[in-house]
Amino acid sequence: MSDQNNDVSNTRAGAVDERTIYELSIPGRRGCEMPPCDVPETEFPQALLRDESGLPEVSELDVVRHFVRLSQRNFGVDTGFYPLGSCTMKYNPKICEASARLEGFTGTHPLQPEHTVQGNLELMFKLQQWLQEIGGFAAVSLQPTAGAQGELTALLMMRAYFRDRGETGRTQVLIPDSAHGTNPASTTMAGFEALEIPSDEHGNVDLAALRAACDDSVAGLMLTNPNTLGLFEAQLEEVIACVHGCGGLVYGDGANMNALTGIACPGALGVDLMHFNLHKTFGTPHGGGGPGSGPLGASAALADYLPGPVVQRVAGDEGDGTSYALFSPARSIGRMSTYFGSFGVFVRAYAYILHHGAEGLRANAEHAVLNANYLRSRLRDVLPLPFERTCMHEFVLEGRIEGSDVRALDISKRLLDFGIHPPITYFPLIVPEALMIEPTETESKQTLDNFVEVMEVIAREAGNNPELLHAAPHNTVVGRLDEVRAARQLKLSESS
Ligand SMILES: *Cc1c(COP(=O)(O)O)cnc(C)c1O
Repeated sequence: MSDQNNDVSNTRAGAVDERTIYELSIPGRRGCEMPPCDVPETEFPQALLRDESGLPEVSELDVVRHFVRLSQRNFGVDTGFYPLGSCTMKYNPKICEASARLEGFTGTHPLQPEHTVQGNLELMFKLQQWLQEIGGFAAVSLQPTAGAQGELTALLMMRAYFRDRGETGRTQVLIPDSAHGTNPASTTMAGFEALEIPSDEHGNVDLAALRAACDDSVAGLMLTNPNTLGLFEAQLEEVIACVHGCGGLVYGDGANMNALTGIACPGALGVDLMHFNLHKTFGTPHGGGGPGSGPLGASAALADYLPGPVVQRVAGDEGDGTSYALFSPARSIGRMSTYFGSFGVFVRAYAYILHHGAEGLRANAEHAVLNANYLRSRLRDVLPLPFERTCMHEFVLEGRIEGSDVRALDISKRLLDFGIHPPITYFPLIVPEALMIEPTETESKQTLDNFVEVMEVIAREAGNNPELLHAAPHNTVVGRLDEVRAARQLKLSESS
């Protein structure tokens, strides 16, 4: 038992072929054949040859089996239900992938002259415009490559904005205690001080505490709406008025736009800046270190500070058919990424928005909210529900069962045995044993019903056989990990 716990990787013996592609190598084995040489043979410059390249010598079948096996060791939205709250792990339509692979896009280079990449620029321009419309903003920059980077970008813009106004005493950023950890991290990175605002008993921002904090030392508030409890900020107008009233700006953390897209425009409600997570709301891949994209929307007062380059439409009198050009906004804080951001993700998001249209996007948000409320109303009999309110696209349960020592972590690990990815566990921090569940709109009623049945089974097991849950998962390639040791003694290479 203790041995197993000390082994961070805890792979089940014999369950899988653990060999690396290098260990599969057999000298002389080949995976491809070169076509017959049709040019005169000549000596290859020795200086370019390495003695020991160490490349594996494997057959095509070795390669296929190795990589398909590796791909199956990962849990993905393409293999099972993935109700990971806050992450919006909706199905990414394959048409988006196919679009991103079109040769017209993959064959372009970011250093090409603008007049040769008009199609790429047009796509970026339209995506900017659609996001402007969806968010209710005056302008959008596609530069940030993640939601967190969008936050940092916005905070740097706030600093520049207040510096230009001579209001350098604004050093504090208010952050509700239900916020994502990236909010205080971005605040600190941007040189502000984070001040936590508590939530009230309904799970919303505590208005009295907010009022007490709002003065001329405040640069702004970072607000996630719906918040990470999946609850709509019921006193949104008062919250925004309070921050604007003291001269501060309101930043919208747009990670939860899957609940609002096509229904409410944060910009129209008074939000000054907001990031979108294309990899959450707009059907593009995320997780596992893939590319992300966190475009930033800005109100008219802040648009000039956006990072460039952004794309604008031009008159087209260059004589070379140029209709779109790159430019840097007048008071831009500068670049936030190399080149143009995650272009491949833009193509996917463009295809996704084009495919769904305004009505489809709204229907998605409505179904996401419906699915979450269906699960909430069925699961509230299985686990404690801390806030008895209609939720938006996600909700939080408490992973504890009367009379059992089973914890949220045990429930999450046991779900893996049933082929279901765990919900977000232990976040938000203000709910003990939090399990944050986001089904998304792409799941069917049958999948949701199956999830409820599995949760009922697990709740029964917690009473009858808690040890089974403490030791879960049992059916996965890798057993229960020592997460503390994995974090403290991070192993980043195969060999050491
Ligand atoms: C995901 C998320 C973020 C950060 O977005 P990344 O793209 O992962 O950097 C910020 N806030 C909330 C509420 C989120 O769910």
